[in-house]
Amino acid sequence: MLNEFAYCPRLFFLEWVQGEFEDSADTVLGRAVHRRVDRETGVLPLPPAAPGQEGTAGATVPETIHARSLLLSSARLGLIARIDLVEGEGTRVTPVDYKKGSVPDLPEGAWEPERVQLCVQGLILRETGYDCDGGVIYYAASRRRVPVAFEETLVARTLALLAEARRIATAGVIPPPLVDSPKCPRCSLVGICLPDEVNLLAAEGEAAVEVRRLYPARPDAAPLYVQAQGMTVGKDGDRLVVRQKGKVEQAVRLIDVSQVCVFGNVQVSAQAIAELTARGLPLCHFSYGGYFRGLTVGMGHKHVELRRRQFAVAADPDRSLHLARAFVVGKVKNARTLLRRNHDQAPRAALGEMARLARLARRAAAAETLLGLEGAAGRTYFAHFAGMLRPREGTAPVFDFEGRNRRPPLDPTNALLSFVYAILVKDLTVTCSAVGFDPLLGFLHRPRYGRPALALDLAEEFRPLVGDSVVLGLVNNGEVRPADFVRRGGAVALTPEGRRRVLAAYERRLDSLVTHPLFGYAVSYRRVLELQVRLLARHLLGEIPRYPPFTTR
Ligand code: SF4
Repeated sequence: MLNEFAYCPRLFFLEWVQGEFEDSADTVLGRAVHRRVDRETGVLPLPPAAPGQEGTAGATVPETIHARSLLLSSARLGLIARIDLVEGEGTRVTPVDYKKGSVPDLPEGAWEPERVQLCVQGLILRETGYDCDGGVIYYAASRRRVPVAFEETLVARTLALLAEARRIATAGVIPPPLVDSPKCPRCSLVGICLPDEVNLLAAEGEAAVEVRRLYPARPDAAPLYVQAQGMTVGKDGDRLVVRQKGKVEQAVRLIDVSQVCVFGNVQVSAQAIAELTARGLPLCHFSYGGYFRGLTVGMGHKHVELRRRQFAVAADPDRSLHLARAFVVGKVKNARTLLRRNHDQAPRAALGEMARLARLARRAAAAETLLGLEGAAGRTYFAHFAGMLRPREGTAPVFDFEGRNRRPPLDPTNALLSFVYAILVKDLTVTCSAVGFDPLLGFLHRPRYGRPALALDLAEEFRPLVGDSVVLGLVNNGEVRPADFVRRGGAVALTPEGRRRVLAAYERRLDSLVTHPLFGYAVSYRRVLELQVRLLARHLLGEIPRYPPFTTR
């Protein structure tokens, strides 16, 4: 804990106050190095006259001490530490801390956060009654032990950092991100902290901030969709195995999975569910027809403060309206851009009208006015939607579009739109939940039983960019065929094969790169979804003055 605080106070706050954690290559490697020392072996009896404790008067202290993975604490200092290894003789002991890296080229022999962490262990050992003048850091990559003396200056620095960490945790205000720091690219929480992005948006153009993309453009893991009826999903070691009538159809490594989506009659084993929840991977449930029914997650995010702010803003009509305007403006602008780029003959009057409605939405004085403007923009947009559809020869009448309809969709194009929107809302529900929000409480969409209102809010700006764009690609490239739809009464639905095609196109879209309009770097749409949810969190927590909707030109 103090190690993180010495590295960066914001990292400490994110991890220890807001409960954020994210693995990086460094943290995974660090765990591997610790595996051996994490096994508790050996004993460390209390020394004969431990101050403030009953001690082991009369007990024999072993001459040589060699104890691994010891959990010790000091009530007086308010410190607790797991010490990798304690070596010593009689009452004189040395804590040994294992690090995965190489010995740094520094006069002190080790980085300050590492020396401070070791000093904490020494202080606790002293409090326990042992003599402890120094410790050792073992660098696994160099296979070298570096001694660290617990001099007065190091002890004073450690205690000062401890007091400051306590003060910041109690105050409950997150420290600002470091500025252009070389520490950030190595920080495991960089994709959550968003240091350069937050610094840029907090400055509101008043400071020249160059934004580095410090996290991968695309996440490595992807969703696993299982939709054939009767399939089972089980766990085999570190893999998920999908079977049909006992025959293995697919096996994927858990580290390559970001979520599991099951449609209708698909069974997931108790072992697989336990593993998914332990890893924080959501299990998304859909009806056979693609209706998003719900989510199985672990204990949920620990970020109570974010939910508290979310609830407070949702209860405040003015602040809710402020956010609702941003969602609607983003949606209308993106719909207009899609129309301008994809329509056969970009309808000037409609584009002008949508620009006007976006301007009005930006300063709408009431939620009802805003909803009216959104409705008007939607009608204008969908009145020209058919002009963006260029179905392959022979399929044209199938994809005729005369307007938006749903519940149930009455034609194939509306069936495609409804299904893609449902998947988009599912992804934003998962992301809202992962970031620490309650997905059911929104600012534009008012609460209704079971409705993921916040996910629906955030989906607005992505409906044209992701949802509609996927549908246009599917129809115009001939990726979906008339045979991919079934009619039941007046309603039209996708067949399982049709859904498979849509899901493949949707995932391709999420993996495609886009230049971020504010930050200037290339990033996948999948990352952009997460980025927007995190920026909303940063806004609600008071770090950035406004939520910036994602819009393309
Ligand atoms: S990314 Fe940088 S500013 Fe953010 S927590 Fe990590 S080190 Fe601190």
